Amino acid sequence: MKKYKIITYGCLANHSDSERIAKKLEDQGYLKSENPDLVIINICSIRQAAVDRAFAQAKKYKNVIVTGCLLKSDYDKFTKYAKIVKKENLFSVKPKNSCLIPIMTGCNNFCSYCVVPYTRGREYSRPPKEIIDEAKLFINNGAKEIWLLGQNVNSYKYDFPKLLYKINSIPGDFWIRFLSSHPKDMGNDLIKSIRDLPKVTEYINLAVQSGDNEILKKMNRNYSIEEYKKLALKIKREIPNVCLSTDIIVGFPGETKKAFQNTVKLFKEIEFDMAYISKYSPRPGTLASKMKNQITFEEKSRRYSELNNLLKKISLKRNKQLIGQETRALINNNFIGKTKNFKTIKVNGSSNNSFVDVKITKALIWGLSGKIK
Ligand code: SF4
Repeated sequence: MKKYKIITYGCLANHSDSERIAKKLEDQGYLKSENPDLVIINICSIRQAAVDRAFAQAKKYKNVIVTGCLLKSDYDKFTKYAKIVKKENLFSVKPKNSCLIPIMTGCNNFCSYCVVPYTRGREYSRPPKEIIDEAKLFINNGAKEIWLLGQNVNSYKYDFPKLLYKINSIPGDFWIRFLSSHPKDMGNDLIKSIRDLPKVTEYINLAVQSGDNEILKKMNRNYSIEEYKKLALKIKREIPNVCLSTDIIVGFPGETKKAFQNTVKLFKEIEFDMAYISKYSPRPGTLASKMKNQITFEEKSRRYSELNNLLKKISLKRNKQLIGQETRALINNNFIGKTKNFKTIKVNGSSNNSFVDVKITKALIWGLSGKIK
């Protein structure tokens, strides 16, 4: 029996692709193994660190295929150790127990630091019927959580809120989550559907990237910080129990100390539940990689720590406010799961992959503890 291993880097969309690749291999008689005859590396070029780690893995194994978001400039480096295969359209492959559903791929936004529009191409949205049929299949097979994925789900061509309404009306006990959203495309319709649809979870990742207008302009993000703040506060006002997370890049070229302090100020004002903070890393071929005033690694690390320490304080404060509340949670393994609004929760029991009602008893920096009712 042939054995395979898949190593995945990057976003949930890449993980969804890996599940589909795994399904294809298993259909061809391959077995998943830590001692593989074939290794697939599904790469993400957004961060240099991920490319370096993938390269180290490619050198480690004999029979390696590299796929995913790979910049042309990295091709030569990898071809010495691996075969490079462009990802075919994997939408038609149905993963076994997965409930990750890509609804669109690619991006038209051209943020100045990002390679996605070059590696994944322009936006392509799947027709709603295809997505709904796939969701029905997963739900009938016992899926409890459906993730709708895309680089920018709220610019889904066939109306994202409408899609949420349709999936919400599928009979069954399940939650609907989605990722990622661009602030410039976050309309009132979407906010209302998150508020009103019982199966859509109150979790929004709304990437801001910087709290400073000059930097946002250089990043080509197409919103001002005032617009972002207005939107974030509206979401918090309109959706009770919403958990709002964001993505941040510290040390973008030209980010002065004052500009960084504007991001600190934003954190204090908005009080995000979670933030995915990364140190800027130049990606070849992007506009930002050619910008002047690159920030030193030491300074990026210092800014990262300052923001992360602030985030820890805010997160703990927000979690403490939840002590005593009752919530529903989906428990996956080792008595750990997620609440409906995507907070990590540790409970005192429960079988795998089941919904439980929990009373929150303790706040942790990055999550909660609770007792099953
Ligand atoms: S919105 Fe910007 S950061 Fe996100 S995938 Fe598109 S270009 Fe990249």
